[in-house]
Amino acid sequence: MKKRKANQRVFIIILLIIIFVVCITVLLFNLTTSKTLKMDKNDKDFNKDYTTFYEDITYVNSDNFIKNINSLIELGYSIQDINLIYDTFDEKEINLITNSKYDSDITNYIKLDYFKKENIGRYIAFKYDENKLDYSYFAKDFKKDLTYEDIVTYVNIGLDQEYYTNVNNVSNETDIKILVNKYHKLDEDYEPDDLVLIDTKYATEGQKLRKEAALAFENMAKAAKEDKINIYAGSAYRSYDYQDWLYNKYVLEDGFTNAETYSARAGYSEHQTGLAVDILNKNWTLIDEDDSEYTWLVNNSYKYGFILRYKRGYENITGYMFEDWHFRYLGKEVANDIHNFNLTYEEYIAKQA
Ligand SMILES: [Zn+2]
Repeated sequence: MKKRKANQRVFIIILLIIIFVVCITVLLFNLTTSKTLKMDKNDKDFNKDYTTFYEDITYVNSDNFIKNINSLIELGYSIQDINLIYDTFDEKEINLITNSKYDSDITNYIKLDYFKKENIGRYIAFKYDENKLDYSYFAKDFKKDLTYEDIVTYVNIGLDQEYYTNVNNVSNETDIKILVNKYHKLDEDYEPDDLVLIDTKYATEGQKLRKEAALAFENMAKAAKEDKINIYAGSAYRSYDYQDWLYNKYVLEDGFTNAETYSARAGYSEHQTGLAVDILNKNWTLIDEDDSEYTWLVNNSYKYGFILRYKRGYENITGYMFEDWHFRYLGKEVANDIHNFNLTYEEYIAKQA
């Protein structure tokens, strides 16, 4: 009898354990997989028609979750897309997506390592904007069908917005990698503190560059001379006031529209960084692309840390017409990369992760 009772007790204990495990499993299952359905059926945004979507969307505890999910479904996004969107973006960025057109393959932006989450609304707008760059004086150079890589690069540069809008002040930047263009400006009193005169063996009187750039220029001119090529620094560092005078002179002589394609407004000129130089040929006139000096520079300048800054065919990106004579010092490493990958400086910066 005693033995039978003991067996019965063991059986009851095992039964209790089984019941307990089943209960826990059911509870956990409810908490995870069907949490959305269970928890939010009473939400004012809950839409019965989307139940099948809700079941497969990973629940995220945020205020407007169902509302946002509905917007994404209505735009055309798949369950996979929606899960990816919630994995990648925060609430603010998701609002940018729900306020944009449907993008057929949002994953294409995300997989680029220089894609910037906060720009997602601008990428989509740029892709689907029929009038993109109408305002740009180089709009005709833009391709009709841009790749996702182009879109991310161009928007990172700022090209989805008019020149001289959404401007960044970079006056705190002391690095030689400073970027100054139609979206990055310098203050009126910005003047590098390491400007030095360039040796007049290789420059017109009084031309200054930042020390490192001046030395690099002299070394480059010396090397060119060994190859029987004579180059000289024409206009190098320019103050804000001088640039202002120059720009206004061009506007008066040539008209606003033309001047804008080759002259920078004060504060937007690379010459104010003390890292840009207009190079002269053996006749002490601005280099032309037919000159042997030009060919030598295109093939060798990167070895000394200089790049041709405003290339032909890239006017839409740099915002300037082709300038055979304008070179920029960036140091050997960056100049080498730009030379090897055939980029503009704008693209080089925009493609940094
Ligand atoms: Zn120049």
